[in-house]
Amino acid sequence: MRHLYTNFPYPPEVHDVVKLFFTDAELCDSPEFADIVLTEKQEKGRYVYRAAMGEICSEQSFEPFSDELQTTRLRKRYAKLATYNLLTSVTGKKMPWGSLTGIRPTKLAEQLSREGLDWRKTFVDVLGVSKEKTQLVADIFATQGSLRNRKSGSADLYVGIPFCVSRCSYCSFTSGEIERLKKYVEPYVEALKQDIKKTLQFARNNSITIQNVYFGGGTPTSLSAKQLDEVMDCIDVTPVEYTVEAGRPDTIDEDKLSVLKAHGVQRLSVNPQTFNQSVLDVIGRRHTVQDIYEKYALAKQYGFVVNMDLIAGLPTETYEMFCYSVDCAIRLQPENITVHTLALKHGSKLKEQGYLSEANVEKMVNYSHDAFCKAGYAPYYMYRQKYMAQNLENVGYCKSGKACLYNIGIMEELSDILACGTNAISKRVLTNENRIERAANAKDVITYIQRNEEYLEKKFQLFC
Ligand code: SF4
Repeated sequence: MRHLYTNFPYPPEVHDVVKLFFTDAELCDSPEFADIVLTEKQEKGRYVYRAAMGEICSEQSFEPFSDELQTTRLRKRYAKLATYNLLTSVTGKKMPWGSLTGIRPTKLAEQLSREGLDWRKTFVDVLGVSKEKTQLVADIFATQGSLRNRKSGSADLYVGIPFCVSRCSYCSFTSGEIERLKKYVEPYVEALKQDIKKTLQFARNNSITIQNVYFGGGTPTSLSAKQLDEVMDCIDVTPVEYTVEAGRPDTIDEDKLSVLKAHGVQRLSVNPQTFNQSVLDVIGRRHTVQDIYEKYALAKQYGFVVNMDLIAGLPTETYEMFCYSVDCAIRLQPENITVHTLALKHGSKLKEQGYLSEANVEKMVNYSHDAFCKAGYAPYYMYRQKYMAQNLENVGYCKSGKACLYNIGIMEELSDILACGTNAISKRVLTNENRIERAANAKDVITYIQRNEEYLEKKFQLFC
């Protein structure tokens, strides 16, 4: 285990960089017992960062801005950079995203441009980002184009259904198995209906136009057709885009698709995660590869625009097996394909079991990128999370003109979100102040049902 000591006031940011190289790294209180020591000091009007490990050290410095927020941002950026450069020298390893952790690269690129910097050059020369990943950011900007623009006075509506038919071993969401939570499903549907009705009434009263509606979870289609119909009856607006993340193929049937169609849903996710049956069995998905093909065909019969999710780095899935999954997805030609890199957070079975992906996930991600681009898809949004295998990224690909507006808005933090349901987070993007305010609903179903009014009030306060 490596110990990190820092006199810098934001140690978690630096700790994240150290964990890219040493997964078991921990913060400690004294430089005496530390393997890595980061110090910040002010010298001749500059902030100076010195990261040292034994005899090896790395230094970075910058001149502070009059804007305090900007200076804080740079303090974090340079402290991380000194640490990254040190660890690159010590280990000889470079990371695809260099010293960037827990940050949306497209947002940073925009921020750097606002600071008057050439973001591409800064990515490569200063932050250590690879040329390929820098190009990926540029390609995403090109695909998004004017889709990044948001109408003022508008918001997207998110509806969360926190139930699934079984728990996937990599999942850390607060969703629960529907069979186990059976007695709460009806009360949840009732509370959710009230939440949606009151939220839409609030939007109307405050002249907020709902642009896009997104049902996520959990697995929204784990509800019955009747329950879905009741919930969707409450959506008394006509959004530009209406998406349901069905997710699990084993929850899709004709009755539910008819309900979605009747309510104007245009887009549906049918998520394979892998086209290898043995891997599906290992991760606890409880559906077959055949289900994926059948439910995809059914969704297409109903005319939905379909997204398919794949995950790189699943247990037992080799590089060749992952490439096979990518090729299968391409053969089906859904309008969107999203490649996630396995990110194991606390609460997932795999994390508890101490699973560490041994596969070359970077090679997998590179294969998918090349294969999708060759097949006519373009990357259109990306986000990165903590704990992602090999510090990579999740990328959504789309066919021309088929990008999901909700995904761009939420992942790029461009849209205000009015969120309904358990664990749903409403957001207000304060562009001029370069910050986001949030109001989170209860994380568990029971609290949500019992204290719905209280959370509604919090949500409304956010937009008042
Ligand atoms: S279907 Fe999705 S939300 Fe449900 S357990 Fe699996 S990964 Fe988690």
